[in-house]
Amino acid sequence: MKRKIIAGNWKMYKTMTDGLAFLDAFVPRCHREMMEKCSLILAPNFTLLASMAARCREAGIALAAQNCHPGGEGAYTGETSLAMLVDVGVSHVLVGHSERRALFGEQDNFLNQKVKAVLAAGLVPILCVGETLAQREADAAGTVVEKQLRQGLDEVVPDGRLMIAYEPVWAIGTGKTATVDDARSMHQFIRQCLRSLAVDGKGEDVPILYGGSVKPANAPGLLAEDEINGVLVGGASLNPEDFARIAESV
Ligand code: PEP
Repeated sequence: MKRKIIAGNWKMYKTMTDGLAFLDAFVPRCHREMMEKCSLILAPNFTLLASMAARCREAGIALAAQNCHPGGEGAYTGETSLAMLVDVGVSHVLVGHSERRALFGEQDNFLNQKVKAVLAAGLVPILCVGETLAQREADAAGTVVEKQLRQGLDEVVPDGRLMIAYEPVWAIGTGKTATVDDARSMHQFIRQCLRSLAVDGKGEDVPILYGGSVKPANAPGLLAEDEINGVLVGGASLNPEDFARIAESV
């Protein structure tokens, strides 16, 4: 069995003190069986990365950044380069989370630059895609997600160096989860898109995570699906007990 990926996105929550307290509570819960079945990833805010890096490394938890700038060093006030993220011990980078798309106007072509830059830096991009409620109701979910994939992965051959997170926007932070059937069928669709963009069957190697109000109660059903290679968890990842229960449900 392939390990399921359990990733936590802390968004703009937690101070450095809170982050270290989370590790104090969470790491002792990472028992051997859990670590054999799951790959754990945490994406705290930039200000927490340096203080969490060593303890995450010792515990076998990968550290992700929530964003990056695709360029090298330069006059980009407020931005963080990939060299800085590598230096601090980051291995994964979230790209195109729906909050970045909706609140900060990030477009697919800019996200494509980020995906390429993350790969060039030797890190793993987690490209987030997903439709809004209006798009789903207009029966356009597949078209929207396919466009996000094709443009976000333009000139990128999808393979095991990257991950996709399917996060229907209407399910993020709302308490509404896609049904297991809806999630499975969109994951199958994404897999088909990846196959068509990949060469030599490498599209099979791209993990596809589901995100959107994943909680200890609904995680077992989602994670039992072969098509769902892991979960990207927002709110419930802030609580060490809930995040551990989600990982334990694998
Ligand atoms: C997210 O932020 O990626 C997310 C899925 O949030 P939540 O689990 O809170 O819906």
